[in-house]
Amino acid sequence: MAKIGFIGLGNMGGPMAQNLIKAGHDLMVFDLSADAVKKATDAGASAANSASDVARGVDAVVTMLPAGAHVSSVYLGEDGLLAAADKGTLFIDSSTIDVTTARTVISEAQTAGMQMIDAPVSGGVGGAEAGTLTFMAGGEEAAFAAAKPYLDIMGQNIFHAGAAGNGQVAKVCNNMLLGISMIGVSEAFVLAEKLGLDGQTLFDISSTASGQCWSMTSYCPVPGPVPSSPANRDYQAGFTAGMMLKDLRLAQEAAQSAKAATPLGAQAAALYSLMESGGHEQVDFSGIIKLLKGDL
Ligand code: NAD
Repeated sequence: MAKIGFIGLGNMGGPMAQNLIKAGHDLMVFDLSADAVKKATDAGASAANSASDVARGVDAVVTMLPAGAHVSSVYLGEDGLLAAADKGTLFIDSSTIDVTTARTVISEAQTAGMQMIDAPVSGGVGGAEAGTLTFMAGGEEAAFAAAKPYLDIMGQNIFHAGAAGNGQVAKVCNNMLLGISMIGVSEAFVLAEKLGLDGQTLFDISSTASGQCWSMTSYCPVPGPVPSSPANRDYQAGFTAGMMLKDLRLAQEAAQSAKAATPLGAQAAALYSLMESGGHEQVDFSGIIKLLKGDL
């Protein structure tokens, strides 16, 4: 069994670390939150005194941090993971961060003689707990192959999307599409209601016609047609509007640096930022339908 360092034991990282422990690996963990560390040590992990202590004498390190600035500060510099680790250590960054930071940190890791992939996830806290996350990885083939046994424990669908940073590219493109499609589906339901067509009937027709998409058939933003969707529990999140906004902003940043035209992505970011400015960032992202109806 391997010795694995784990940094960032929050809503996602906590249960991911638990699954590695359950699979029999030795975990050395670090988080700024003492409560988060305690949950992991209660499950059998050892606590490190700092992020760089996690990297000493381990085979692999997984990081699950909020944003690019946290990833840069944990990996780079004199006190960073890359300076502390033995050469050849494998790093897996599963945080959702900007493509530029992901590529910079992986390049620095390679220069320092390490192996590293970016491996952001989708599947939410439920997927992290169940070990059914989807991983979208970027990086060299050998680093991906070394990481795959660990990703298989934490996830169900594991994709190698190509070169360094491509995991983040896949993640922001997918989530930009999801944000746009949720707004599109919501607009259709709002319009139908105003014109006297009930939601269930629109669902029955559209879900088997050309308007069909995941936002309609798996996560329908009106109550009724899809019993498991957050619309049936007053838009209690699932995936919050705030998290969707974070990913849409990352997509816009990437689009600007690549000079890609993403006008609907920009509009989606603007609409979700209205949810944020209204104080509704903890509402599920499908609650955007309430904003469109004037109910927020
Ligand atoms: P979270 O805020 O619950 O957890 C982040 C953890 O990192 C916290 O426990 C925090 O204390 C710790 N941390 C921050 N800076 C640190 C540092 N310098 N050293 C050590 N620990 C530090 O966030 P989360 O929901 O677990 O999300 C983590 C990442 O996964 C984010 O990038 C998020 O976008 C992504 N993500 C989240 C979800 C979700 O549904 N929550 C789904 C997919 C992807």
